[in-house]
Amino acid sequence: MKYFRPKGTRDILPPESYKKYWIEETFRKTVSKYGFVEITTPVFEHTELFLRSIGESTDIVTKQMYTFTDQGERSLTLRPEGTPGVVRTIIENGVKLPGRFFYIEPMYRYERPQKGRYREFYQLGIEVIGEASPEIDAEVIEIGAQFFSAIGIKDCSIQINSVGCPECRPKFRQELVNFLSDKKDKICEDCKIRLEKNPLRVFDCKNENCQEIYEHAPKVRPSLCRNCYEHFLSVTKALDEREIDYTFNDRMVRGLDYYTKTAFEFISSRLGAQDSLGGGGRYDDLVEELRGHEIRLPRFDKIKDKFITEQPIRPQTPAIGFALGEERILIVAEPPKDVIQPKLISIIYFSEKELSYAKELASELRQAEISVYINYDLKKLRTQLSYADTLKAQFAIIIGEDEIAKGVLTLRDMESGEQQNIPRNEIVKKLADR
Ligand code: AMP
Repeated sequence: MKYFRPKGTRDILPPESYKKYWIEETFRKTVSKYGFVEITTPVFEHTELFLRSIGESTDIVTKQMYTFTDQGERSLTLRPEGTPGVVRTIIENGVKLPGRFFYIEPMYRYERPQKGRYREFYQLGIEVIGEASPEIDAEVIEIGAQFFSAIGIKDCSIQINSVGCPECRPKFRQELVNFLSDKKDKICEDCKIRLEKNPLRVFDCKNENCQEIYEHAPKVRPSLCRNCYEHFLSVTKALDEREIDYTFNDRMVRGLDYYTKTAFEFISSRLGAQDSLGGGGRYDDLVEELRGHEIRLPRFDKIKDKFITEQPIRPQTPAIGFALGEERILIVAEPPKDVIQPKLISIIYFSEKELSYAKELASELRQAEISVYINYDLKKLRTQLSYADTLKAQFAIIIGEDEIAKGVLTLRDMESGEQQNIPRNEIVKKLADR
């Protein structure tokens, strides 16, 4: 064996591939009920997009991006997450807002691979762009809960927090810096850099020693401004009205810089160390941040007798979304049996004389929406039956010279091994009725 898949990537074969398809279809159905439409964005984007949105001091940007220079000397990056690309798409295409969008796409992060953590992984995500009501925060969380319930995940718990906004976060940031000022020599090297560049990110640290120190750190919620605090209260009220259970998690600041106000995570107790099934939050400033603003030149004001620069009014495009990790969902989802074993009929024939008969029967069955497999190379009954077994076919239809002459086919139940003779003109209906 000469070639191996790159570290941190996965090959997805049946029956897992069927399970994956079922998860995605269930997700599509769930989010469509709430008015979301599917979009696809490029696998790579200009690197700058991720620096501006995710934040230059986040773990994703500093350590995990797959960045390369293309032949035109452009710096491009394989998307490490979906939101920046979706927001860019909405702005670039002038999509009318408010809008609700969803995607199912692979993401790339250079991480240390382990169970539930890969370098290529799929995320199922939704983004609501242009809606501010706390009601939609609760609805987005409800959608996640609905989806997990639809795929048989019963132990999913929901944690929520508020991370504040540019108005109140500086106060919290200062409190955190004060708290850490005499602990600099006890925290890890990464956290020392975080403390310099973006102190809130210290909460992303996985180092146990650091985690212990941050246990006693100030909490973000007491420093929320009135607006953020009221929003948070309204979200919890809306969640209560929808009868969604949740717990508060003061340490949850999420690993990205663009979050404002509501932050939440879906956790499964069956996942071990990588227990987050997904998470999300509000990002009320990101759309305008990425849209950019016209540069206003100073103009001479005769009354004031001086040059003034008018600041453009910053319209806000509030937004909220989540991303769920498909690989982790694959571990805990419980599909019905027929999902991982789709119905299939294997047609077995022995010589060229029966070939056109077999093909005609297959075509009739397919028209009746029945999946049919014929192997044109294998001719021995035993090998064909054993292959039908490998394919997990439900039935085999055996066609021999005698059968054609009598107008009766042999139908074999592959699980029990029972065989019965069925008239040729009844077989399609009989199988379709099952
Ligand atoms: P994030 O975009 O970091 O908020 O992650 C959202 C969800 O994506 C997480 O809760 C995980 O379920 C999943 N996820 C994140 N990173 C990985 C990874 N490296 N491998 C597999 N799943 C991941």
